[in-house]
Amino acid sequence: MSTRRNEVHILFVGYSRPDSNDSTAMRANCTCTLIKTRNGRNIIVDTLTAWDGERLTEVLRNLHGLQPEDIHVVVCTHGHSDHTGCNYLFRAAQWHIVGACVSNRDKYLDCALTRGESEPFQLCGDDVTVVRTPGHTLSCVSVLVRDTAHEGVVGICGDLFERVEDIADPTIWLEAGSENASSQRRQRLRLAELCDYIVPGHGQGFAVTSQMREKLRQQLNACNSGEHLEDVFM
Ligand SMILES: [Zn+2]
Repeated sequence: MSTRRNEVHILFVGYSRPDSNDSTAMRANCTCTLIKTRNGRNIIVDTLTAWDGERLTEVLRNLHGLQPEDIHVVVCTHGHSDHTGCNYLFRAAQWHIVGACVSNRDKYLDCALTRGESEPFQLCGDDVTVVRTPGHTLSCVSVLVRDTAHEGVVGICGDLFERVEDIADPTIWLEAGSENASSQRRQRLRLAELCDYIVPGHGQGFAVTSQMREKLRQQLNACNSGEHLEDVFM
């Protein structure tokens, strides 16, 4: 039996902050992640903006010895332009998965993931799966990587989590935009319970602690009882 493990490498740490020169604008780019599976598949998750092709190509070549055509699958956690910009580099990939949409050239797959069913989409058996995590956008997905070298189960969650600080301060993810905040709150707890380590959409990866899970549970419960009160008084 192979003792090799799956590897998760953060290629670029994302950010999001107000533009210091323009009060009507933000500056943001995504956290970009490479998965190298134990059976030799390379999967890239979230591909920065369209202006980042050269530096992405360089990092793949210099740190991992990979050419764009060595990437087997592209996953964008959702369709925003700072998560999809360099998909064009990876035209040898079997699939481009953008949110819950799975395609290759003009061919669009019809499967449980695209139909909104709960069954995960397998990218490498059960080792790497794509699951729907609606909230930031209704089409958002996360990638789960099991049996990793160091971190246990890793969830690459896109903007379900903006960055680790948004657990203590939920205004961070709410102000980053949420198409369905109550769904996002549920999915945040669900993924925190599934994962030992989370890669957020715009920050460093972090180990999930029991205090974080408890905090997310309290936030969900507080909102659920709030929603219930609203129902009663409407
Ligand atoms: Zn984003």
